[in-house]
Amino acid sequence: NADAAMYRAKELGKNNCQFYAQEMNASLEEKLALMEGLRRAVDDKQLRLLYQPKVDLASGQVFGVEALIRWQHPERGMVRPDLFIPLAEESGMIVAIGEWVLREACRQARDWQDAGLPPISMSVNVSPRQFDDRRLVARVAAALAEAGLEPGWLELEVTESLIMRDVQQAVDKMRELEGMGIALSIDDFGTGYSSLAALKSFPISRLKIDKSFVRDLAHSADDQAIARAIISLSHQLQMRVIAEGVETEQQRAFLTQYGCDEMQGYLFSKPVPPEDIGAMLARSAHDTKG
Ligand code: C2E
Ligand code: MG
Ligand code: MG
Ligand code: MG
Repeated sequence: NADAAMYRAKELGKNNCQFYAQEMNASLEEKLALMEGLRRAVDDKQLRLLYQPKVDLASGQVFGVEALIRWQHPERGMVRPDLFIPLAEESGMIVAIGEWVLREACRQARDWQDAGLPPISMSVNVSPRQFDDRRLVARVAAALAEAGLEPGWLELEVTESLIMRDVQQAVDKMRELEGMGIALSIDDFGTGYSSLAALKSFPISRLKIDKSFVRDLAHSADDQAIARAIISLSHQLQMRVIAEGVETEQQRAFLTQYGCDEMQGYLFSKPVPPEDIGAMLARSAHDTKG
């Protein structure tokens, strides 16, 4: 943090102090510039969604996609969500951005259905500030109604840390969403601090094994143990379990062997534009018919 950096800088002498001060200004300036740009991004149509297929292991079929946001910045090119989502969260802009994501994702899901493609589930990431918004449930309902999408096709992904901050409040809101017919899943599972006792009170249909446990699955006995534990926990709690970040055949084989239900990762497809998903669904519908 800034105080610690200044303290360190003072200890190192004047030149270094200036160096640290400059560095801090640069990153603050950078942050402000990005935030300023982000404010216009929705209206200027610089945001778009890519979709990454989720594959069911038993059938080998794409049963859903996750919507992943991209910001096409006029000067910087593509800005990664890991960089701007935290800024949007910090500034509160995530509420407006998140609403755009919800509406766009629901509209897209409905478009595929209207094109006669086999219906799939649409997952949307929801960040803490967006979840806390008093109007979240109304916004979700409006996005579904506007698109004419049945709630059963929408899934919201929340993180462990989000739901564990205030368990009762999160349970209440999630029950409300579940009551509307929307599915809920826990993203990046294993990286936060879940109370296992609390976990069973949430209306969750699916846990997502974080990709940090998948990456070294072929070699790390620890990661193997963690992945197996999450698979078993999910099934004990009557939930489905999906692994994210699956890149290799070895990872797929291990996860299959231990009963993981679903997978998502570069092995199947990276996040792609909507046309590519449409083509993928059309192919699979054709293959199924024979
Ligand atoms: P996430 O929800 O955990 O999404 C998974 C991330 O892993 C995505 O990064 C995806 O592109 C990446 N990924 C997928 N398969 C693989 C793989 O095989 N290997 C590796 N190394 N990575 C893989 P992305 O798209 O950069 O998104 C990063 C994070 O930004 C997301 O993590 C999510 O937390 C957040 N995010 C993305 N879109 C939205 C959004 O619309 N709203 C909110 N609130 N957050 C979003
Ligand atoms: Mg996610
Ligand atoms: Mg994730
Ligand atoms: Mg993640």
